[in-house]
Amino acid sequence: MPVSMLARAVDMSRAVAAGRQCQTLRWSFGASPTRQFSTSSPRLSSGLKINADRLNKTLHETCQWGAAHRYGSGPTQTGMARLALTDDDARARRWFAEEVKRLGCSLTVDQMGNMFAKRPGSGNIKAPMIAMGSHLDTQPRGGRYDGILGVMAAIEALRTMEENGYRTNFDVGIVNWTNEEGARFPKSMVSSGVWAGAIPVEKAWDLADVFDPATTMKSELQKHGYLGEMACSSDASTGVPLSAHFELHIEQGPILERANKKIGVVSGAQAYKWFTFTVVGRDAHTGTTPLEARSDPLLAAAKMIARSHTIAKEHGALASTGIVKIPVNSSTNTIASQTSFTLDIRHPEDSVVAEVEKLCLDSFHQIAKEDGRGVSFSWTLDTDSPAVKFDKECIRAVEAAADNLVGPDGWLPVTSGAGHDSVYTSSKCPTTMIFVPCRDGVSHHPEEYCSPEDW
Ligand SMILES: [Zn+2]
Repeated sequence: MPVSMLARAVDMSRAVAAGRQCQTLRWSFGASPTRQFSTSSPRLSSGLKINADRLNKTLHETCQWGAAHRYGSGPTQTGMARLALTDDDARARRWFAEEVKRLGCSLTVDQMGNMFAKRPGSGNIKAPMIAMGSHLDTQPRGGRYDGILGVMAAIEALRTMEENGYRTNFDVGIVNWTNEEGARFPKSMVSSGVWAGAIPVEKAWDLADVFDPATTMKSELQKHGYLGEMACSSDASTGVPLSAHFELHIEQGPILERANKKIGVVSGAQAYKWFTFTVVGRDAHTGTTPLEARSDPLLAAAKMIARSHTIAKEHGALASTGIVKIPVNSSTNTIASQTSFTLDIRHPEDSVVAEVEKLCLDSFHQIAKEDGRGVSFSWTLDTDSPAVKFDKECIRAVEAAADNLVGPDGWLPVTSGAGHDSVYTSSKCPTTMIFVPCRDGVSHHPEEYCSPEDW
């Protein structure tokens, strides 16, 4: 079943894209034959099967670093708070480094702390490695599977090759991308973004901890020994190029579970933009200031948030506010002087995101004038991630493996609702993703759960 798709991984199907030689791993997820849910899939590729119990055990063992938010009495019934480049993240990274070396990999760390573990192939073919990439950092109230499952499944794939003496034609390996979540240093997928040339390294290094302006990504990379010497680049002459990038990830939504499918073959990722709006008014006494004499930024912000929801709904898009800030010295009987809020707009088409953005801005200008003396506002664009279509050859390889494992009725083509490092890698090498279901579609939550039966 799916996670094992990372394990039997290993038939190289070749893909020749844009005149450039590349290769794709044919992942076929096959669970341990001793398990009830094991498959007896035909030998499409290597015939290797991963050990799902070992994968499950390893995943939870490594969640000792950053375990938080207990929700049940079972040993694994906690969520995670393993923010990028914290002490717990550094512990997980050290474990990863040891583990991949034990599996015969060389390890390269670049200037953003991205960790590239490479297991050499037969040496007959000279090409950059094919990577299985994801991330070990989590949200502050995250779960045990987002990102972590992708890295652990990749480890299990290499373990399976190693114990079977399986040698690939091409170099294969794993990437642990730094600060994918953007939760501590507020730019998501920032390090794959630098690798892909979309974000300048200095800008990424200067990102400050959201709660501690004195701490930057660079200072934390230095502190933990992950400021590597290798350039963070896909350029073969200076950095670490990849021939292909495959990312296994929990779906983080309810579509697969509702459709009773085991695998999502991901065709691309939807477009999204993140903004921060700052609305400025004037402090005033709530008992003595008539409504028409007020300049109330919190009221205006509330209306703006509600309006963005309406506009998104009319366009079949998504608009969400995750952070609202008012001054810390706010008081019940004082109108707040300032309010800031974030806005996250998403849709599979860039043009719809642009339209929703425009209509939101128009209506926000209107709202700013509606009540009392009005308010002023400004905004910043924090992230702009256009829609992405993944590589057709890579998708075909995953489809073939999925057909083989669960049959044509067992999987579904899907678009990723979330951003992933694969969005950036796809601009530099053939890329796709494999989704596995997660319970009730819950993610970015301590109770996030993905059943080993779906691996
Ligand atoms: Zn993730």
